[in-house]
Amino acid sequence: MRSHLLNDTTAEHYRRSVTEGVERVAAKLAATDRPFTGVTADDLAPRIDAIDLDRPLRDTTAALDELEDVYLRDAVYFHHPRYLAHLNCPVVIPAVLGEAVLSAVNSSLDTWDQSAGGTLIERKLIDWTSARIGLGPAADGVFTSGGTQSNLQALLLAREETKTEELTKLRVFASEVSHFSVQKSAKLLGLGPDAVVVVPVDHDKRMQTVALAHELERCAEAGLIPMAVVATAGTTDFGSIDPLPEIAGLCEQYGAWMHVDAAYGCGLLASRKYRHRIDGIERADSVTVDYHKSFFQPVSSSAVLVRDAATLRHATYHAEYLNPRRMVTERIPNQVDKSLQTTRRFDALKLWMTLRVMGADGIGALFDEVCDLAAEGWKLLAADPRFDVVVEPSLSTLVFRYIPAAVTDPAEIDRANLYARKALFASGDAVVAGTKVSGRHYLKFTLLNPETTTADITAVLDLIAGHAEQYLGESLDRAC
Ligand SMILES: *Cc1c(COP(=O)(O)O)cnc(C)c1O
Repeated sequence: MRSHLLNDTTAEHYRRSVTEGVERVAAKLAATDRPFTGVTADDLAPRIDAIDLDRPLRDTTAALDELEDVYLRDAVYFHHPRYLAHLNCPVVIPAVLGEAVLSAVNSSLDTWDQSAGGTLIERKLIDWTSARIGLGPAADGVFTSGGTQSNLQALLLAREETKTEELTKLRVFASEVSHFSVQKSAKLLGLGPDAVVVVPVDHDKRMQTVALAHELERCAEAGLIPMAVVATAGTTDFGSIDPLPEIAGLCEQYGAWMHVDAAYGCGLLASRKYRHRIDGIERADSVTVDYHKSFFQPVSSSAVLVRDAATLRHATYHAEYLNPRRMVTERIPNQVDKSLQTTRRFDALKLWMTLRVMGADGIGALFDEVCDLAAEGWKLLAADPRFDVVVEPSLSTLVFRYIPAAVTDPAEIDRANLYARKALFASGDAVVAGTKVSGRHYLKFTLLNPETTTADITAVLDLIAGHAEQYLGESLDRAC
């Protein structure tokens, strides 16, 4: 069994095993002609159930053959140009290389004595990101498991900065299309059930700042405490960007912590063309960035940045065995002092390899391409009488629905769109997402693959229309 330990004597086994895995995946990526096979959970479950985990195969090739059967064949492939659903990106090769290195070396970024250089690499990437945002000389931050955790940590700091024990008095302002992690965080942070004040959005799905001002004023009048405003720079559903400069002004006026959730829009930090769309982000007290959404990084790769490094002390606890207080005076950099996690992956290495091989402009150019594609897609949809499209994109998302000329019942249109999404998924020809707009069912393209073309968009729209028509035709038959 020792031959399976990765060490000085097993280099050949390591090389062979990993190469065999890499070759399988490479062959798979080359051979996928659809983003998905359409397999159902009922199809797959018996195959996985049949595997006896107490009877190992004792052979890498056999285990990979089995994996082909239970996972690789039917996985959902984000690199395929007709995967248009969620905020998952195809990944860049330098980042995948970083992933292979970081898991083999297996540094843990909690303490210097488990990481050394990794700690400094992460810190440099935090500084790089803060500088791109423009947070100023006192900025700091830490890598996290994702935007959900970044938002939680930012709101923890905001809560502590209010220096109040009366948690039920705290209010967090976020738009009606902000991410649900804001609500979850409020709950985890022990705020009251009314803590999150939902601010309406305008026609473009951007927070209405007049409404925000009104809510902040009401909060002050009621003797409550405006703990934070969460501005979303790239909403999950629409890619809309809240008016950051106006929100920053209101935060200053009312003494609220400004958090910018740029989990999606952070890609613009690397863009030469569209960086201005997130102007105002530099005024934030904290920022969430998900490199695993718009920097083409494998999951997980995310960070929370803060304007004032001192605020990170609210997440600091000392343990004698790990990061005793004296290490701070000895200037030993222990990242665990800034993190909600303890043992933590060296995810920063993926971004490091990406920047060292491709550079930020390379990443920004890829993100620009998908933003341009969305703009093209919007024109196609706006010109197509079969579809109703919601918002002109600020990033790379399109929300639309099929509207057959002959059908006026909105519930029937809902059902046709729901059916089309399901039927498309079952066919595996393309994967699209869905959401609700003003109570009605819509479909959604989240475009993050620069390989997707306008021809793909046209083809998928035709597929959607075909499925919806089929549903409506059958529904007519049922009625007759
Ligand atoms: C995806 C997303 C999140 C959550 O990030 P995870 O990495 O999935 O935890 C938070 N906010 C916004 C706006 C997002 O799009």
